[in-house]
Amino acid sequence: MQRYSKVLGKNKREMVMLKGFPCKWGRCTFCDYIEDNSKNEKEIISFNKEVLKNVTGEFKVLDVINSGSIFELPDESLKDIREIIISKGIEKLFVECHWIYKERLDEMREFFGIEIIFRCGVETFDNDFRMKFLNKGAGFKEYTEVNKYFDSICLLVGIKGQTKEMIERDIEILENHFKLGCVNVYVENTTSLKRDEELIKWFAEKYAYLKDNERIEVLFHNTDLGVGSED
Ligand code: SF4
Repeated sequence: MQRYSKVLGKNKREMVMLKGFPCKWGRCTFCDYIEDNSKNEKEIISFNKEVLKNVTGEFKVLDVINSGSIFELPDESLKDIREIIISKGIEKLFVECHWIYKERLDEMREFFGIEIIFRCGVETFDNDFRMKFLNKGAGFKEYTEVNKYFDSICLLVGIKGQTKEMIERDIEILENHFKLGCVNVYVENTTSLKRDEELIKWFAEKYAYLKDNERIEVLFHNTDLGVGSED
C-alpha cells in the first residue's frame, strides 16, 4: 500500500499514512480502514520509521494520517515525527483528531512546537444522521461547538440515506465557518453502507465550483491524495 505521497494541488504538502494503535472510538458504521490499526507497538514503531524516511521537507508542510487520531500513535512514533520536523525544517503539520480528544489539542501543540491543523471527522452536521446512522461518537449539537476547537473538518457525501438538504447545509457551514475542509465522497468498502450514485452525481455537478476553492479539497476516491492505494 502507498504510504507516502506529495500532494501537489491545494495545500501543497507531503503526506504519510502511518500505522497506529486501534482507533479509540472505532465504531463508525462506514469505517473499515481501522483494519490498518495494530496492537503490536514494536512493529508499528519500526513500520512508521521506514515510512517517515521518505519525508524530504520540500514543502515545509507534513500531513500525517493513521486510520484514527494522532493521539493513537505510539510515543516513539510521535518522537520520530518531531525529529523529522526539526531535521527537515517543517513548519506546519496536519493531523487527524476525533472529537473525543478535543480538550487535549494543546498537548500536541506543545509537543511538536509548530503550527498544527487538527482535522476533525464531522461527516455531517445533521445530528441524527451523524450520531445514529453513522455512529460517529461526536455529540455536538451546533457547528459553533466544533469551530471553537477545530479549524479543519472532514465531511462525508454520498451515503444512501443522506439527503440533498443535509449536504447543502453541510457545505454551507464548511464554506462559511471553517478555515479548511475536506469533502470525502463515499466509496463502498467492506461495511454494509451503500453509495448513492444519484446523490453523488448531483453533488459533483452542483459543487463543481469547489475545485477552485483553495480551502476545500473534494476527494472522489479515498486514494486521491496518493496514499492508501495498493501499489
Ligand atoms: S473515528 Fe475515524 S478511524 Fe475511528 S472508527 Fe470512526 S472513521 Fe474509523
